[in-house]
Amino acid sequence: MKSDSGEQTCGILVTDPVDQALVSGLENKGYRVDYKPEISSGELMKILHDYCAVVVRSRTKLTSNLLHTGKGLKLIARAGIGTDNIDMNAAKELGIRVITAAGSSTQSVAELNLALLIDLARKISYLNRNVRDGRYKKSMGIEIAGKTAGVIGFGRIGFQTAFYLNTLGLKILAYDIKESPELISGVSGQYVPLDTLLEESDFIIVSVTLVDRSEKILGEEQFGKIRKDAILINTSRAEVVDPDALVSALKKGNIAAYGADVLWNEPPDSPVERDLIAMDNVLITPHIGAQTEEAQERVAKMMLENILKSLEELDS
Ligand code: NAD
Repeated sequence: MKSDSGEQTCGILVTDPVDQALVSGLENKGYRVDYKPEISSGELMKILHDYCAVVVRSRTKLTSNLLHTGKGLKLIARAGIGTDNIDMNAAKELGIRVITAAGSSTQSVAELNLALLIDLARKISYLNRNVRDGRYKKSMGIEIAGKTAGVIGFGRIGFQTAFYLNTLGLKILAYDIKESPELISGVSGQYVPLDTLLEESDFIIVSVTLVDRSEKILGEEQFGKIRKDAILINTSRAEVVDPDALVSALKKGNIAAYGADVLWNEPPDSPVERDLIAMDNVLITPHIGAQTEEAQERVAKMMLENILKSLEELDS
């Protein structure tokens, strides 16, 4: 909606870091945009009612309480994918539309999966730490070609990761609640039950959406089935793995290594996370899956188009 002076009356609040092209693109269309990428939930609670749209990434938690304070809120734009930081039931109840930038970071996250996997297979980060600390000592690694990779959650990121791994000479197994013959044949792979995937994979990549059914999809029982020499990679959401079962499996030598871009608390602040991070065969990155110039440009472009289109539709 525009005021008499031709300016948009709708204010847009951005609560996490986004590419400046998104902010200037919205401003150029006459919207008032407030960029507060480090806003606390307390502050957000006080000002949300002043905006018709909010742009978030994964840091901002849009709880039911918070959404109920945003009286004029019509649109939540998640600049990325994964809406587990948004209370979707509350948004639905309040008639707030939620849009995402699905697919914008697929390439970046798939490349990170590959990087974590090769790093752990050759112990690159671990050996680099040793060299830096004055311990110049070799350690044996493994090749990835000729091995089996199991992908849990064979969607956009799962497929792209499998595509790279297949190109590098790995056999692909996949587990998903939805099966697509077309997708799996693109990596010469095979859908299998979760237990088979756990028992047969040298590398396991988790790229599943976090929903009730996938929470702790890897718990004590599943860690009992994973091969002792397997390397597990998780760039989806920490909650799909049971942290106690994971740390216990690593301590007992029931899996070889764990690489992840996600934690249960970001930044980490629980004893089990501190235990995990301290292990030599664990590699953690600070949620950088979509943190590439290319992904952020893609997110900004996709978000700009989708926000403008949605606000226009919601106005009419
Ligand atoms: P996607 O929707 O294309 O794929 C997710 C797949 O998980 C789907 O095929 C779906 O059927 C499957 N799935 C859902 N519930 C399942 C269950 N219970 N068991 C088995 N499979 C199940 O999503 P995507 O674009 O590939 O992204 C996957 C996840 O990666 C996102 O949900 C997000 O949490 C995470 N992600 C992380 C980063 C990061 O910065 N680390 C960036 C982007 C996405």
